[in-house]
Amino acid sequence: MALIVQKFGGSSVANAERVMNVAGIVADTYKAGNDVVVVVSAQGDTTDDLIEKAKEINPNAPRREMDMLLAAGEQISISLLAMALIKMGLPAISLLGWQAGFHTNSSYGSARIKSVKADRIKMELDRKNIVIVAGFQGLCKYDDVTTLGRGGSDTSAVAIAAAMHADRCQIFTDVEGVYTADPRKVPNAKKLKEITYDEMLELATLGAQVLNNRSVEMAKKYNVELEVLSSLNRVPGTIVKEVTNMEKMLVRGVTKDTDVARISVIGVPDVPGVAYKLFGKLAAKNINVDIILQSVGRDGTKDITFTVARSNADEALEVINSCNLFGGSNVVCDTSVAKLSVVGAGMETHPGTASTMFEALFDVGVNIQMISTSEIKISVLIDENDADRAVSAVHKAFFPED
Ligand code: ASP
Ligand code: MG
Repeated sequence: MALIVQKFGGSSVANAERVMNVAGIVADTYKAGNDVVVVVSAQGDTTDDLIEKAKEINPNAPRREMDMLLAAGEQISISLLAMALIKMGLPAISLLGWQAGFHTNSSYGSARIKSVKADRIKMELDRKNIVIVAGFQGLCKYDDVTTLGRGGSDTSAVAIAAAMHADRCQIFTDVEGVYTADPRKVPNAKKLKEITYDEMLELATLGAQVLNNRSVEMAKKYNVELEVLSSLNRVPGTIVKEVTNMEKMLVRGVTKDTDVARISVIGVPDVPGVAYKLFGKLAAKNINVDIILQSVGRDGTKDITFTVARSNADEALEVINSCNLFGGSNVVCDTSVAKLSVVGAGMETHPGTASTMFEALFDVGVNIQMISTSEIKISVLIDENDADRAVSAVHKAFFPED
């Protein structure tokens, strides 16, 4: 007998039929003799719909009240899933985040889990219940309901698996696992059997939307092995763990992220402190900067170019224009760019990954605007209109069709 945590995302419980389908998967796991803790997200687009409802009433609603509202989505899905299992003749009980022992800090809207006191869950398991827990929510020290940020249910599942030393943590979604590229865009993308936490973290951060990156960070920290798999097709998924058994693959995946804007500050004085002042102002406004490029100084001036999330572009421009630090400089912003990345732990030890990528882009006539690298990742900034074709070309270079 094992303790298994199963998490089902919003699309997996979107309607009555899907809820019954999930109940079937949970029932099979339970009937095989396992203790089962299930974490669910809100049905389908419920969370988005609730946000819209709030906007109709008060677009500047306090975050505490937003959390009170958004937590309702998961309350619906846990009770429906419990009812489905009970109808199948199985003992099931639903628990809200606070009942399941989720204590968080009081950053409403993006709360961090401080601890999971799983006594109630354990008691219910001892009573042979299937325990269904509302993902995405907890309780802070003021006894207020908090939420963990969008996509937070993955983190709830990992937190339970870590706190209870579960034997397995399965994240069910509407795709069959983690792919070498988005299978909707790249038809010959391959499903990976395994991937390391670090690779998954890079992919999750770079726009592969299978797992929330905070959940991967937590899984790495507590060494919780994850399995990402489909709730619709019962086939093996992708295992996310510390070290994969397979030889390090040179490249594990190719991703694109279009939530990017490029800002250039042209003609700033070529003196010490300019970068510090510029990025200091942006940091003070909590604007995250990604790729940075500075040109070589010439005639006493230089150019600094960097990228930010597209949603931060206007604010970033305001910050730069208002700080008046760089008299005579000229600011340009381009929002039709995309970041294309290749990720793989194997590139640490294999030279030539960058040149393979750049050659593939050259072959399809795609211009590279900026480049950034880490030990296991190479990212380039390109024109957004080239992005899909560039992903296909780069994917083909690293995963030639067999
Ligand atoms: N329901 C929340 C959201 O849509 C949490 C989750 O889905 O994981 O963001
Ligand atoms: Mg959702």
